[in-house]
Amino acid sequence: MHRRLALAAALAALATSLVATPALAQQGDAKVLNLYSARHYQTDEALYEGFTRATGIRVNRIDGDDNGILSRLKSEGAASPADVVLLVDAARLWRAEQDGLFQPVRSAVLEQRIPAALRSEDAGQGSQWFGVSTRARVTVYDKARVQPAQVDSYAKLADPALRGLLCTRSGSHPYNLSLFGAMLDRTGPQATEQWLRGLVANMARAPKGGDTDQIRAVASGECGVAITNSYYLARLMRSSKPEDRAVVERIGVLFPDQAGQGTHVNVAGMAMARHAKNRDAALRFMEYLAGDAAQIYFADGNNEWPAVAQVRTQNPALAALGDFRRENVSVSAIGRNQAMVQQMLDRVGYR
Ligand code: FE
Repeated sequence: MHRRLALAAALAALATSLVATPALAQQGDAKVLNLYSARHYQTDEALYEGFTRATGIRVNRIDGDDNGILSRLKSEGAASPADVVLLVDAARLWRAEQDGLFQPVRSAVLEQRIPAALRSEDAGQGSQWFGVSTRARVTVYDKARVQPAQVDSYAKLADPALRGLLCTRSGSHPYNLSLFGAMLDRTGPQATEQWLRGLVANMARAPKGGDTDQIRAVASGECGVAITNSYYLARLMRSSKPEDRAVVERIGVLFPDQAGQGTHVNVAGMAMARHAKNRDAALRFMEYLAGDAAQIYFADGNNEWPAVAQVRTQNPALAALGDFRRENVSVSAIGRNQAMVQQMLDRVGYR
């Protein structure tokens, strides 16, 4: 009896470990695709299932954050099983390209569908990565305490009038590093460092949590204004939970710098891994993600804006947020500026 229990426990443990680390595809197995994904959105599951239904190709997904995936690709080298890589930040896509972790892809479908501004420069062999969706870094504020005119530009977030009111996630998170890198490109090093110093001086609390936590902290009154990616806000706007409805009721939202250089926009993108073994499947997957169904999914499922311009979406939250003016800063400038921004953050004490 005890032996049987022990065996059952061992089998259960084995099953658990198999679920936790799915077996990766054999070399050149056309029916399997190994995907390294930093897209941390549960609803993406339906997207990958759609691909499998359409092609019969199974998707083995390895999840991590952008930095974790980059270091994993580096340490695996030529032995890496990764076929396609999905990252959620422009500077990380740029970094991976610089580090030689991708390979150029030539595809008439991708070139026709993804605008040139949303893919890496084509040096004659194709692009190294392609944007699949975009997201804006917006401000949310407590309507009871803060006037919209106080928070309608990124610069104003450093204004002493907002002392003790600002909340953000860690300054070193890729979403913030890319926003700050764009600001460095837009305003130069002196103004950017001074601005970052002002942000730190205005903090309601030490940076912690994710973007959704900042939104909730505005609604609870702990913060007066916060910075968040648009899709976290849109998710709350579409939620049917009473507590989420209450959050949305209490806050205002603004696209910063509509009268100036436009709101900072980041990109989620895909690339073929440098040492992809299933290259045909990888290309099919990438073209699938640029297709109408997948593009509509990015909007309707995860509340992002599709990279493909002509795609029609039916997302009430995106419709409510409306059209807005986007900044015009190159991904390479944002990527190059990361190291300098991190030094500034260290100097001004922005954790
Ligand atoms: Fe995110």
